[in-house]
Amino acid sequence: MKELVDRLRRNQALPAEELRRLLTDNDPTIREYLRRNAQEVALAHFGRGIFIRGLIEISNRCRNDCRYCGIRRSNRLATRYRLDRQTVLDCCAEGYRLGMRTFVMQGGEDPALTDAFLTDLVGEIHRRWPDCAITLSLGERSEASYRALFEAGANRYLLRHETIDPDHYRLLHPEEMSLENRVQCLRALKKIGYQTGTGIMVGSPGQTPDLIVKDLQFIAEFKPQMIGIGPFIPHRDTPFGQEPAGSVELTVKLLSILRLLCPSALIPATTALATLSGDGRILGIQAGANVVMPNLSPPDERSKYNLYNGKAAFGCEAAEGLDSLERELEKVGYHISWDRGDYIEQD
Ligand code: SAH
Repeated sequence: MKELVDRLRRNQALPAEELRRLLTDNDPTIREYLRRNAQEVALAHFGRGIFIRGLIEISNRCRNDCRYCGIRRSNRLATRYRLDRQTVLDCCAEGYRLGMRTFVMQGGEDPALTDAFLTDLVGEIHRRWPDCAITLSLGERSEASYRALFEAGANRYLLRHETIDPDHYRLLHPEEMSLENRVQCLRALKKIGYQTGTGIMVGSPGQTPDLIVKDLQFIAEFKPQMIGIGPFIPHRDTPFGQEPAGSVELTVKLLSILRLLCPSALIPATTALATLSGDGRILGIQAGANVVMPNLSPPDERSKYNLYNGKAAFGCEAAEGLDSLERELEKVGYHISWDRGDYIEQD
């Protein structure tokens, strides 16, 4: 089994059957060996600096109805909000003051987030803070829209594929969505020149080891610059409200496998991981993650961007908590990197 890890590290690839064996193996020595190798690779590429991104949750209105997501349109119990232009700019100003050099605007697929509104907003952020990277995570849009936003100054886009299996995709998503369109969006984003991020939820209902292997193969082939994975966490007011949460252990293991498959990718220790486990963030970093995304949304709105129950948005998960994040990182020999942390291709 150690030989599989060595080979994965050396070749940055592994045949499906062996990925599956590694994934389903339960030996703690192997788990630790995998983790240590992934941490070494992350250290070799990024050193002990962890990149930070200020996360601005711009709107929780959504035209989609994803079965796992707390802000799906059918959830009548969600209190809806949308940040206005000035509020987003205020968030960026605050993030900049705190030292952040990447702003991530994430939201539901809110029809009010038109190209006109967003290109103006992105353009203004780009003009005011030209040394900052602008990341968008606003779901599926047309290629023309992605292009307009890129031209306005956006550099990066996060769009998890969620699952690469069409049947599993249909189980997680409403009729009108399709895996084909999702993947087309991803290819368009990359073609336009965005640093593109994709990924999955770990432990989403219906997910099996074989499906995860297919996701890993897709990621290895697509070569995203960023990879977001976190455990599925149920939201009580969704059809998956009674499903069990994904496993922290498996998420951490996948972080390590992904680090070995894609050594120079930017991989966050996600909020979902930190939500499920008090030391999730640190476990993720020690398993090969190299990014954290503290919440920069106005504190009053944070509790409304409820993708799942219990979502962490304060303390080390918050922009105001950067000091505690720094202390937490220092305890395990890491520190915040204030660099904007663009993707750099390396071996
Ligand atoms: N509308 C955007 C942003 C979605 S929110 C888009 O479609 O890309 C960002 C990510 O949160 C999603 O891609 C999904 O993987 C994750 N997410 C949503 N609901 C979740 C849940 N219940 N548990 C864990 N992660 C969830």
